[in-house]
Formats: sequence, C-alpha cells, structure tokens
Amino acid sequence: MRLVLLGPPGAGKGTLAALLKESLNLVHISTGDMLREEMKNGTDIGRQAKGFIDKGELVPDDLVIRLIEQKLIGDKQVRHGYMLDGFPRTRKQAEDLDRILGQIHQPLDYALYMEATLPVIIQRLGGRRVCRGCGAVFHVHNKPSRKKNMCDVCGGELYQRADDNEATIRTRMDVYLKNTRPVIEYYKAQGKLEKLDADKDSEEVQGVLMQTFNEDRKLNKH
Ligand code: ADP
Ligand code: ZN
Repeated sequence: MRLVLLGPPGAGKGTLAALLKESLNLVHISTGDMLREEMKNGTDIGRQAKGFIDKGELVPDDLVIRLIEQKLIGDKQVRHGYMLDGFPRTRKQAEDLDRILGQIHQPLDYALYMEATLPVIIQRLGGRRVCRGCGAVFHVHNKPSRKKNMCDVCGGELYQRADDNEATIRTRMDVYLKNTRPVIEYYKAQGKLEKLDADKDSEEVQGVLMQTFNEDRKLNKH
C-alpha cells in the first residue's frame, strides 16, 4: 500500500506513521527527517535547506523532489509499500509525485488527511521532544519518557526542535494554510482522500483507519 499523510504540523502524522509501520509493515518516509539528517551530515542539500527550516518556511520544491525521487526509485525497501509524511506539501510536489509514480506504474492508494484544531496543535508541538539518537518522538504531558530527557528506545538525549517554538509554529501554520491546503483538494478531486479526526489520539485514529481499509478491501476498492 502506498499512502500520503496530510495535515497541519502537529496533527500526528509522524505518530500515526510509527503505528502503521508496525501494523501494516510500511516504510516511513518523512521529508522533514530526511532534511534534518542532511543538515546533521552537513551535505549540500542540508546547507541549502537549513535557512528555510529554521524560519519555518518551505524548502524549495526542486530540492525536496530530488530527495524523494532518489528514495522512491533507488531504494528497494520501498517496494512493498510506504507512507509519505510531510510530502507533498505543495501542488507542484503533488503533481511531480504523480509523474514519478506514473513512470514506475505505482500509483498512490490513499491520501490520509489528518484534520486537527489549532489549540490541539499548539499543545502538541510545544511539548514535543525528539530523540537525538533514533528520532523517536515523546511529549512532556501526552507521552513522557520514563526518565526525564532520555529516550525509552535507545537511551539517547531528548531535545526540543528549534522550529517547535510558538513564533515558528505560527509561520508553519500559515505556510500550511497557504501551500498545503490546495494539496488536499488535489487528492479529493482524484477520489483518494480519506479524512480523519486527528484531535483524537493516534491509536484511536489508527483504529478508524483500519476499519476503512477493511471495508474498502471488501468492496474491492483497493
Ligand atoms: P512538521 O510537519 O512538524 O512541520 P516536518 O519535520 O515535516 O515538520 O518538516 C520540518 C521542516 O522541513 C518544514 O517546516 C520545512 O521547512 C521542511 N520540509 C519538510 N518537508 C518539506 C516539503 N515536502 N517541502 C518543503 N519543505 C519541507
Ligand atoms: Zn532514541
């Protein structure tokens, strides 16, 4: 199965992706994670991306598309299905993705739209902590680590992303409303959109989603 996860920052795309990775054995592809990795390694792409990311703005389309294209065409692991998290974020990215997938005859199955309200988003992002070692995500109230500032998975140090501050969260929301909302319309027009209530916690969202997948399978839709 090939999925894209859509929704505002803080909708829980990464958390849902982690659950689906377990239950459906799908590869999780996050352009945000890939870009942070490039920055950490000090690559060309990383250097070009940093200024945009720190401000909460979008990295230029051609740069992100290059990253994704390499992954989807070059990486054997993605053959059995994947979830794209944080991509596409513009209409141009969505069109280019269709072009790339068209060439390899592997169309998307669903675009999952995780709809969340602003107070929930701010609460989630403000308390989010990420592991420096393995990228696991925690939350100071909703999902605290067992030991303060230490990752349950690998023992790595937890940190707060530089772009998870209130001013940058606002910019990311504005960018989302302006650039990414049209992507939702794009998939709706293709009949691939599946809307989910992402104010609910991720396990509940996953439950609803599994039901949808099962019903569609019975109807032979996918
Ligand atoms: P979130 O979903 O919490 O905003 P991400 O980790 O997905 O965070 O992305 C962090 C930043 O990386 C974005 O604010 C943006 O600058 C950059 N980025 C990630 N994916 C894309 C993309 N598809 N197009 C452009 N920029 C991107
Ligand atoms: Zn870790």
